[in-house]
Amino acid sequence: MKHNYYHSKHAKFGVELLITLLMVSGVLLLYTELEIQKIILSFTEFVRYGVSSIESIISALIIDPIANLEFSDGVGVLMLAISFVLFVRQFRARLVSAYFDSKACPECGHKLHRIHRTRFQQTLSSFLMLDSAFFICGDCDHSCVRFFNRSPHQPAE
Ligand SMILES: [Zn+2]
Repeated sequence: MKHNYYHSKHAKFGVELLITLLMVSGVLLLYTELEIQKIILSFTEFVRYGVSSIESIISALIIDPIANLEFSDGVGVLMLAISFVLFVRQFRARLVSAYFDSKACPECGHKLHRIHRTRFQQTLSSFLMLDSAFFICGDCDHSCVRFFNRSPHQPAE
């Protein structure tokens, strides 16, 4: 240890630098009649106040709700999450099973035309991770959206 210390120029230089810094700051503090001490004190107080208020905000927003979460709450949240997933799955299955292959209008039997989907239909199908198509009857006012399971090939126009 001693051997390494004496042969390391960096360590020696570091100690000398530290001594010089301490001496200079000590002399400065002695000759400036508490002004620097006051500034440093108020600065550290300011920093401490800032840190403690940030800590209290974090604990109020994040730590406390998690710490106060009881086991039954956790089970409740889990059950809600599972029911939500099952609901989306069921909803998707119903939408897809409503798909009928016919290109004829279910109301009047006229040929259906595919038109552009609305923004809502696009958003819904990307949320449900399904393909969809919007059809309108050329004869009556019937229109319908059809959903498909996503496949490599798009449904034929
Ligand atoms: Zn029709």
